[in-house]
Amino acid sequence: MKAIVVGTGYVGLVTGACLADTGVHVSCIDIDERKINMLKGERLPIYETGLEEIVRRNMKKGRLEFGTSLAEFLQGAEVIFIAVGTPPDEDGSANLRHVLAVATAIGEALQDYAVVVTKSTVPVGTSAKVKAFIAAAMDKRGRKISFDVASNPEFLKEGAAVQDFLSPDRIVIGTDSMRARNVLDQLYKPFQLNRYRIIHMDIASAEMTKYAANAMLAARISFMNDMANLCEFVDADINQVRNGIGADPRIGSKFLYPGVGYGGSCFPKDVKALIHTGKYYGHRLRLLEAVEAINEDQKQVLFKKLLYFLDNDLEGKQIAIWGLAFKPNTDDMREAPALTIIEALIKAGAGVRAYDPMATGEARKQIAADVIYAQNEYEAVDGADALMLLTEWPEFRLPDWKRVKRLMQLPLVLDGRNIYNPQQLRSLGFVYHGIGTKNGT
Ligand code: NAD
Repeated sequence: MKAIVVGTGYVGLVTGACLADTGVHVSCIDIDERKINMLKGERLPIYETGLEEIVRRNMKKGRLEFGTSLAEFLQGAEVIFIAVGTPPDEDGSANLRHVLAVATAIGEALQDYAVVVTKSTVPVGTSAKVKAFIAAAMDKRGRKISFDVASNPEFLKEGAAVQDFLSPDRIVIGTDSMRARNVLDQLYKPFQLNRYRIIHMDIASAEMTKYAANAMLAARISFMNDMANLCEFVDADINQVRNGIGADPRIGSKFLYPGVGYGGSCFPKDVKALIHTGKYYGHRLRLLEAVEAINEDQKQVLFKKLLYFLDNDLEGKQIAIWGLAFKPNTDDMREAPALTIIEALIKAGAGVRAYDPMATGEARKQIAADVIYAQNEYEAVDGADALMLLTEWPEFRLPDWKRVKRLMQLPLVLDGRNIYNPQQLRSLGFVYHGIGTKNGT
């Protein structure tokens, strides 16, 4: 089988590499020449656990290749995945220009039947647009080649993308063509050897499923953040509350963690896009409006705690930050709460010394302010007036606290992910505050 994946970001590269690993011949296309040149040289433009090895292995076997021109690789491809970005427009709607540009490029170059699969997260109705753009480009060149479209939204989690792709909870396929359905069923067979995981549905429902899933997850986070903030007023502990509610199977214990707000390339933009779709149809999504508002406020919670502990005066204070990426095991800084927090710190006159195991390169690109990037967590806290833990990387879980305390100017720890034991830290002489944890000393 031969497949093409257009877009070599987190979704496209993982899709291409994992499909190649099952024996499929995959050509990955991107307009970003820098990325393609890196990949040709077996260097990865992004970090994902285990991805580099799979990419290298399949390149060596000749099953995975990279290029910038779709037309060059189309020959014999049965499936073309569109996995390009769908960034938010100013009004919050999903910008489809990349997706539709790819559709046009397919229509301009297609020679034989293929299934065109939209993997990017796109609003309901986009697959119909993709079909129309392909057909229009074919018309222009006076050709009529048969093709089908399908929606196959991606549910992988950054940081665990390879594992999620290889062993998915479910594979959603939306298409009205039996031929397309059969091609995709065959392609996905190796990923469901011990359990049938494909859920077939119509195209609109598949497109909607992706947004509904992300909206539900974002709602869980904002709900827990809201509860955590209330816990602080009533002297309850959100960690205990979380255990108490998570034991109910109707609620479940996963994804119930309060923190410094959700970020990343998906939740913020997908919640916005769904709100926009609702507005377009005259149906206000009030719950999601609240989810978004709570999240914006939550990004300020740790900063407000810092102001409280440092008497509203951050001028000249040195603040250490552990973790910049929007979550662990990724270098992705898109919409990371760290960006908002660092901006607030700098504006208030504080100096920032940050350490992240993977995201420093991305942070340098996204943060214009003068941040000092430390080589490790201890260098970051050297001389600091406070430590803010923003991303729960595994290596931050059990630091040498005695060493941290010796290095810090003031022993103040603000734990944005509730990964530390308040009693332990307080017994070591730290002032500790988490999110929704008890404020005792
Ligand atoms: P990304 O920004 O990491 O990668 C997108 C890639 O598409 C870029 O390399 C870009 O150069 C390329 N591109 C843009 N226009 C192109 C064109 N015309 N031709 C060829 N390449 C082009 O994006 P991503 O994080 O991989 O996300 C891609 C899509 O998948 C988005 O719709 C996103 O919402 C969705 N998604 C993302 C995740 C995630 O965790 N990142 C998970 C599920 C779904």
